[in-house]
Amino acid sequence: MQSEMLQLRRRGLTIGFVPTMGALHAGHLRLLAHARRQNDRVILSIFVNPTQFNQRQDFTRYPRPFARDARLARKASADYLFAPTAREMYPPGHQTTVEAPALARRWEGAYRPGHFRGVATVVTKLLALVQPTILYVGEKDAQQARLIEQLVEDLHPATRVIVVPTVREPDGLAMSSRNTRLSPTERRDALVVFEALQAAGRLIKSGECRRGVVLRRMRTVVARAPSARLEYAAVVDPRTLEPVTVARGQVRLLIAAWIGRTRLIDTLRVRCQRPVRCQG
Ligand code: AMP
Repeated sequence: MQSEMLQLRRRGLTIGFVPTMGALHAGHLRLLAHARRQNDRVILSIFVNPTQFNQRQDFTRYPRPFARDARLARKASADYLFAPTAREMYPPGHQTTVEAPALARRWEGAYRPGHFRGVATVVTKLLALVQPTILYVGEKDAQQARLIEQLVEDLHPATRVIVVPTVREPDGLAMSSRNTRLSPTERRDALVVFEALQAAGRLIKSGECRRGVVLRRMRTVVARAPSARLEYAAVVDPRTLEPVTVARGQVRLLIAAWIGRTRLIDTLRVRCQRPVRCQG
């Protein structure tokens, strides 16, 4: 992989890189389409990274439809599919890890201990191998996207990061490899995740910018679905991801919820247009 990439760079070709854990869906394909348009060569990686799973069962149950993924990668005109084994990425004797930045402390970082250390480590290793011109990540995993932007700025300044907007099912559910695990009833219940974001977004746009009121609305919407259990809902600064008490200007809404045994996350960026009830 290293020598292939070195040759591309020597020839002056630009490299677009889309790292994934496979079980490809339209969200991944959107990232690939951006990469295809903007680069001479497109690299897709598929690696279910064991170090970023904080629950063994989530790792073992993670879908791995490799033959289908390879077909989709070809159809999306990826030039390379890089699918290393865990032993290749973490050979015996591997010791060094990358400490996740402060951005990783809250939200996913708090509920999934060690998750972002695993992400930061694997992304650093993949970047060292591929050394892409542009790295493509999805907005759906908003905290991960911010962390990767920061990591690249700090450690790989030659690479540019592009964050691609979330691709959704027609009914609004954010595409995710984990959606395939939902039963038909859970699939219906899962809609509350995006509905909670939308309801909160409407509230903010109508001028209600107090965090407490916005969060209460999100909780109420999630509670409508019998199989849903809210893990966290948050109104945060889009850059620092720190909570804001009063939404002013651009804010990001974050949500994580269990639907049965499947954990889903989603996010929405909202602009507070008319802060008419923003006294705090
Ligand atoms: P994953 O395979 O879930 O690790 O995701 C690989 C990349 O695809 C990450 O950068 C994700 O943020 C991105 N991604 C996942 N789902 C979506 C989606 N629904 N829309 C856009 N990007 C996504």
